Amino acid sequence: MSNIQDLFERLASGNRVALGKAITLIESIRQADQEAKSKLLELCGRAVSSRSVRIGISGLPGAGKSTFIECFGMDLIADGHRIAVLAVDPTSERSGGSILGDKTRMDELSMQDGAFIRPSPNAGVLGGVAEMTRETILVCEAAGYDIIVIETVGVGQSEFGVYTMVDYFLLLTIAGAGDVLQGIKRGIMEMADGIVVNKADGEGREAAKQTAIDLRSALGLVTGGSHSQVIPVVTASAITGEGIQAVWQQIVHHIDDRRSSGEFDARRKRQQTDWFENAIDYQLKTRLASDVELRALKEGLREQIEAGDLHPYAGASAYIDAIRGSS
Ligand code: GDP
Repeated sequence: MSNIQDLFERLASGNRVALGKAITLIESIRQADQEAKSKLLELCGRAVSSRSVRIGISGLPGAGKSTFIECFGMDLIADGHRIAVLAVDPTSERSGGSILGDKTRMDELSMQDGAFIRPSPNAGVLGGVAEMTRETILVCEAAGYDIIVIETVGVGQSEFGVYTMVDYFLLLTIAGAGDVLQGIKRGIMEMADGIVVNKADGEGREAAKQTAIDLRSALGLVTGGSHSQVIPVVTASAITGEGIQAVWQQIVHHIDDRRSSGEFDARRKRQQTDWFENAIDYQLKTRLASDVELRALKEGLREQIEAGDLHPYAGASAYIDAIRGSS
């Protein structure tokens, strides 16, 4: 394990190769790597403070997420921050390809010393994309990145996973996008700490402003106009940069508020226990999947159920009994 201590030290001194290696270890599903991974996470967990800011950014494809993050990130780097951008794309689990990861993205940002950009982990991780992202956040923080942006494509349950690992959840939308009202229905609005109507430039400026007004009134209706719950809605342009600084100010303000009220720490603590629950599910799944005998037993039970010889509930009980017997 001394090589893990060594990896950690190189990582903590800002070595990019070490960071890449650490993330590869985290994304490894080999049983043989799990102990080293656990040790690395423990070292990182002890090293990081709660001074970092974790921001989730969600929006439908085309809303301008990568353009926005590039512009936002370049501003932050100019202010002396170090920013890591991680993508969470659950579609990569099913298809092996990724909506977010396949494009060439954030060209300018990716060339900066103070920036680190990581595409979504790929297929074969058994529902572990969100799980690995949580771990990658920690490793990036140990490597000295103080702002972590987690980008997710707004098409499914990935938002909720991301919401449970960030301090601020930003929804990016555009004028006339049908996702806005649907978002209210699907509960995404309740997760948002802020909404940006992007592409407020040129001919699109007025329409973006109008969408922001509509959104504010729609949200006022949803929250009953209660001030404590009003979600700020602003317009911005990721192309001209207008309004982008204001978004950052909004985030800083929100986080300062939460830090002084104790809510920030409370949320992070809750995230630690969420992590624990998710890690149990994930580790159970990966261990079971790597156990040849249990896999064969499961397959046999599945065949019996298909043939009508076994009830699914009884089959599950037999499987669980076998797990307990084999541990
Ligand atoms: P993503 O799929 O959400 O990551 O969206 P992209 O960042 O790839 O942007 C989709 C398209 O919208 C690209 O052609 C961008 O150039 C364009 N775009 C992004 N932000 C803006 C903006 O603020 N104003 C305008 N006019 N176009 C934008």
